[in-house]
Amino acid sequence: MEIGDFRLEQLSEGIFEVSQAGSIRKIRDLGKDTASDSVTRVGLDPVLIDTGNTAILLDAGLGMGLDNKEPEPETSNIVTNLEIFGYHPKDIGAVILSHLHYDHAAGLSYTNKADRICATLPNAKIYVQKMEWEAALQSLESRPEVQGMGYEPDDLYRLVADGRLVLLDKELQEILKGITVIRTGGHTPGHQIVRIRQNGQTVYYCGDLIPNELHLNRFVATKIDTDFIKARKARVLLMQQAWHDKATLLFYHSMHVKAGMLVRDKNRGFVLKKD
Ligand SMILES: [Zn+2]
Repeated sequence: MEIGDFRLEQLSEGIFEVSQAGSIRKIRDLGKDTASDSVTRVGLDPVLIDTGNTAILLDAGLGMGLDNKEPEPETSNIVTNLEIFGYHPKDIGAVILSHLHYDHAAGLSYTNKADRICATLPNAKIYVQKMEWEAALQSLESRPEVQGMGYEPDDLYRLVADGRLVLLDKELQEILKGITVIRTGGHTPGHQIVRIRQNGQTVYYCGDLIPNELHLNRFVATKIDTDFIKARKARVLLMQQAWHDKATLLFYHSMHVKAGMLVRDKNRGFVLKKD
């Protein structure tokens, strides 16, 4: 997708099954693997932005297959997906993390042959909300029972020690000309979304505030948000703004429809525009 001078790509890591306890399994054959009621099926699509001067990632994926002694080394992850589009991990100058749940952040680090944790993207600064980092650390102490995918921030200490984490403390902050983070909270305390704006065109990367097109329905109840009321309010505000801006929404966890523009339906709700 072209937006002004920027080029955007969604980097698909495949389809996964998430159990209620938060374990995750890659689905190899959608026809053969039968879904049960206790699991949720999700896609997983970090976004690559090439601004012409630098390359930026929005979320970093699961990092499956990156670690030494990984049982499934042959799988798609942030490194293999960058390669497909002609990029090397060293090319990435920044990563904006919507939040620190491990399905968004684990791709940032891997364990090498000497069992050392290393940065997957050696030149990238990692932008995350300060509030989110604090919430992730707190969860290490309390280890609350969470539905779905939670925090596993231990590996991120490597990046903190290297001075790579940039902790943001404003609700609205432009990271690079045309790329702005907006703190929404709701899904997690410091969840943020990303607005990309170039030459009058707007794209919103929704993170887990609107993980897929099913969550456009404001009546959909979800157990994945730490603050359900706040998440719902932020979701509606985002949809109103995106509709007003005639913006394209990018979804991280969609299985099929990974992006689209909004139109209003007859009940004054929002649905994706059909081409
Ligand atoms: Zn999440």
